[in-house]
Amino acid sequence: MSRYARLFHPFRTPQGEAATPDQVRNDAGGYVFELSDRARLERFLVLGSDAPTYYAKARTLTRDNARAVLRALDADPAGTVATIIEVSRSGRAPKQSPAIFALALAAAHPKDEARAAALAALPAVCRTGAHLFEFLAVVTELRGWGRGLRRAVCRWYTSKDVDALAYQVLKYRQRAGFSHRDALRLAGGAMGSRSEGHDALFRWITAGREALGEREVSRGETTSRYAAVNAAALPARIGAFEALQATRRPQRAAALVRENGLTHEMVPAELQSSRKVWDALRVDMPMTAMLRNLGRMTSYGVLTQGSEGTRAVVARLRDGARLQKARVHPLGVLVALNTYRSGKGVRGSLTWKPVPQIVAALEEAFDLAFHGVEPTGKRLCLALDVSGSMGFSEIAGMTGITPRVGSAAMALTTMRTEEAWSICAFASELRPVTLHPRMALSEVIDRVSGLPFGGTDCAKPMQWALQQRLPFDGFVVYTDNETCAGREHPFEALARYRQAMGIPAKLIVVGMTATRFSIAKQDDPGMLDVVGFDAAAPRFMARFLRE
Ligand code: CA
Repeated sequence: MSRYARLFHPFRTPQGEAATPDQVRNDAGGYVFELSDRARLERFLVLGSDAPTYYAKARTLTRDNARAVLRALDADPAGTVATIIEVSRSGRAPKQSPAIFALALAAAHPKDEARAAALAALPAVCRTGAHLFEFLAVVTELRGWGRGLRRAVCRWYTSKDVDALAYQVLKYRQRAGFSHRDALRLAGGAMGSRSEGHDALFRWITAGREALGEREVSRGETTSRYAAVNAAALPARIGAFEALQATRRPQRAAALVRENGLTHEMVPAELQSSRKVWDALRVDMPMTAMLRNLGRMTSYGVLTQGSEGTRAVVARLRDGARLQKARVHPLGVLVALNTYRSGKGVRGSLTWKPVPQIVAALEEAFDLAFHGVEPTGKRLCLALDVSGSMGFSEIAGMTGITPRVGSAAMALTTMRTEEAWSICAFASELRPVTLHPRMALSEVIDRVSGLPFGGTDCAKPMQWALQQRLPFDGFVVYTDNETCAGREHPFEALARYRQAMGIPAKLIVVGMTATRFSIAKQDDPGMLDVVGFDAAAPRFMARFLRE
């Protein structure tokens, strides 16, 4: 390049300078585009902000995201709450905490419409007892116990049928400084009377079995205030739970678990490492609990090569419909795979010898957990940002899963689905990377984790494709959008590529951190932001590529 063209070029702007008036400075000092508040909301809901990124503290990231959520609520209360519900219910996010936090922000918002929509959505977003407690812990920091909140909490309890409610009450007895007794008392106890079973259960929660009137009734005290509540109406699971607390015999405990659908949270500490008990727990274990307890079950001898337990677990991991119905998130599978193959727990001293069939089934489950993955038949350039910042933080606070590892894993799913793709990796320069679709996820993780760190230039994939005259219908760039090192902005490189190749190539930016930054020009219909590790990302990408 000539000296003058280096000093000024009409179509190439150094990334350290704004190329258009609407660009903003990212945390690395480069200029990029800014996401709308609604797009930020989706990034926040999926990726969360409780872990720091390379550039931003968790506190700063959370504050900025919370402000964006509040602005979105201000502009469109109903639509914003609808997005929170949709992301939460569809299982697009690896963790529920950001949705619960956003819902609490809405429940304390100055706008009546936002508060009403949020409180009405409580049972939809906070589906478990743990979610409810987490919501209460946040919302009580933000607002008082007005009538609306009391009613919403009452509705959380009365809208569930009594067996489902008993299950939640036993499985999550206390979290985040709240118990069901606290919640019911704060809600004001005016629970309405949905059924005799509900009344008995509420009494059991707030006052214990003694208050259920059994004794009073047997003594003939029919006028006692407890006598109206019928102990016999208590769900059977409550009695089974009490019996489980009383026993020390694994055989008896296993029978109680089997016959009453009890979960590992309900098992007393003394029986927590019993193989017999876990063998019983395994049968109806919810999918997410199963993923989290594969190591434990292997350590206790439930899962061994060729065991009935292993056969059943492998069959469940290979069942895509079941994985999605249980809202198993691909990132949850990735974390399970990473932990399980390591042979030791992240915390504590538990160790196990990984069963190879289970490792293989987890590999399969990862692809299956993404929603609606189908080939588009388009020519794709998959470009991984492997710069230093991508190897730093952990996605959604998930242990060991850096944006770098997460990007490679996501790209692998696309490579296994699509026919025509090329893959490249870049920092401030292109980096050689050899990934192929038949490679195990474990191997991909190891390979990508070992790459050296470096600066960032997100224009590199487009420049490379142009230099090599490689025809692509779309570039999929996995990045944290902290680009700053290049002599040209990524969108400028894409414009040159489109023109020189005569292909209206699209750009999909897979955002791997919950910042407001994007290399995608927001008003270019040929560019799309998707959220990294959104379980629905492959579906959105495919739809956009086909359009
Ligand atoms: Ca970087």
